[in-house]
Amino acid sequence: MPGDRRAFSFETTTQLPPSAQGKGRDGTRYGRSGIIHTPHGDIRTPAFVPVATQAAIKGVLPEQMKELGAQCLLSNAFHLFERPGEAVIDEAGGLGRFMNWDGPTFTDSGGFQVLSLGAGFKKTLAMDVKGMKSDDVIAKGKERMAFVDEDGVTFKSPLNGSKHRFSAEISMGIQHKIGADIMFAFDELTTLMNTRAYQERSVERTFRWAQRCVAEHERLTAARVGKPYQALYGVVQGANYEDLRRHAAEQIASLDFDGVGIGGAIEKRVIGDTCAWIADAMPLSRPRHVLGIASVDDIFACVENGGDTFDCVAPARVGRNGAIYTHDGRYNIKRAGFKHDFGPLEEGCDCYTCTHYTRAYVDHLLRARELNGFTLATIHNEHFFITLLDDIRASIDGGYFDEFRDQTLAHFYANGSRG
Ligand SMILES: [Zn+2]
Repeated sequence: MPGDRRAFSFETTTQLPPSAQGKGRDGTRYGRSGIIHTPHGDIRTPAFVPVATQAAIKGVLPEQMKELGAQCLLSNAFHLFERPGEAVIDEAGGLGRFMNWDGPTFTDSGGFQVLSLGAGFKKTLAMDVKGMKSDDVIAKGKERMAFVDEDGVTFKSPLNGSKHRFSAEISMGIQHKIGADIMFAFDELTTLMNTRAYQERSVERTFRWAQRCVAEHERLTAARVGKPYQALYGVVQGANYEDLRRHAAEQIASLDFDGVGIGGAIEKRVIGDTCAWIADAMPLSRPRHVLGIASVDDIFACVENGGDTFDCVAPARVGRNGAIYTHDGRYNIKRAGFKHDFGPLEEGCDCYTCTHYTRAYVDHLLRARELNGFTLATIHNEHFFITLLDDIRASIDGGYFDEFRDQTLAHFYANGSRG
């Protein structure tokens, strides 16, 4: 039997009440709490999705992630295609079984990684747009390693320089073999520096790729009998342009996707609006994932305007460099002279690190580049974001989201903190 589509669904628990600040039609606020049902269990939303790029969170085992409250993990189709190859993961019984994680999993399509090779920019979400607009912009000192055409993208592997090709069909084939519960359609990522004309062409191309992804997804679902159903989210692009985002959202809503991914380059000032423009066009039964969120205030803006799940590499990546998230902002343990501080990373935190280890010890480990330092800092930071989303969910259910948002942001940014 092919995977049963009814194994995947979304139900709303509590909808945020309309407000004067509502960015949806007639003051609607699309923010909500809910449950995503998947073949590998439920995700209570809004939820934070830790990023296990290569089927691993650096230094932290999946069982530790479960213990600190993670509900689901997101891996990267492009990296897993490069190494170990999707066939190995298929043979292992899918991504979850391969990495000993029995909960829900996501993979992104690989489009972001492949197309980032083109421009050489790392993170384009919420990036600064000052500067020239061009269709051939490349980061300084980088070689263009990816080329887009109507059918797909040709790129050079950053691992070994070999030439590869990604297209809608190839991405779907890889993601079906990896076997995550939630997958994303292959889209074209642009940067905010691309011209308006290019963004328009790109949105149309992403729509054509989305149609091909849906067709290939249906074919593979029918062909791969005995596998659990994998949900497919369509991705809405359109950069900072309201009309383009709305148009792209209507296109994606017209296709038979299970959910929607809010992707691409978005300036911080319109991040909440962008979520609302997209939610305006989308059936409410489809969960909405915001791809690659960057900071605490962005999370609140996206939740309020309809985001259900959020992935973010920051807690692990900056944690390894000693940046520690707390409710009073982010600090760097290596810079602030914690050599003799035998308190926890954050007073009152109930994570494993804070209940067993001290600042002085974590500071020492990170300076000595001991791997346990990565582990302890990452556990605390992932726990910070996971519980932040848990608390936001509780505030929606409890009817005090606005107060909780104002209070949390005032505390977090009181000292001019980044992140
Ligand atoms: Zn902690």
